Amino acid sequence: NEKIQLLRDAIVSYPDFPKPGVIFRDIFGIFRNIVAMRAMKDLIVEHILFLEVDLVVGLDSRGFLLGPIICMELGKPFLPIRKKGKLPGNVVQHAFNLEYGEATFEIQTEYVKKGARTIIIDDLLATGGSMVAAIELLKLSGAEVIECLTIIELSGLKGREKLGIPVHSLVQYD
Ligand code: 5GP
Repeated sequence: NEKIQLLRDAIVSYPDFPKPGVIFRDIFGIFRNIVAMRAMKDLIVEHILFLEVDLVVGLDSRGFLLGPIICMELGKPFLPIRKKGKLPGNVVQHAFNLEYGEATFEIQTEYVKKGARTIIIDDLLATGGSMVAAIELLKLSGAEVIECLTIIELSGLKGREKLGIPVHSLVQYD
């Protein structure tokens, strides 16, 4: 697929970032290239149109760049999941373990309708830890998570096997 190849060519890989041995896949290469950015939007929108989505939720922080682009096309609302202490109003929380220590996600629960067909979007799926936490948080809020969507998937880490919910990714690396 031509559009997928555009994305692949635009993603820049940085060896040994943020620490030795890690290859960081940087999606901002897509944002610097308007043709690739449009291809990314088209690929996501074409895929989501069939899913009858009520709500798009983006993960802190690159999910915030992706979600609203999609929502403008779908005519559906966007909600952020943020790290603890950043969102005003009634929030639900979910604490989870990271590689080092703990983190807590929050969402403004009053804006999640019961049974809302929800997709979660982020830039990259690695171990799946962030996605699992986001799915839990949305379940606590009464949403029905129908799919997790990422631009990049690090397939070798097998994150998708932890989610129990379909995953759609555009570009995969081992
Ligand atoms: P996970 O929770 O699946 O292990 O990690 C996914 C999260 O870590 C995502 O929110 C993603 O932004 C970030 N992340 C981990 N590795 C990379 C990477 O190589 N590139 C980018 N852009 N984000 C990464």
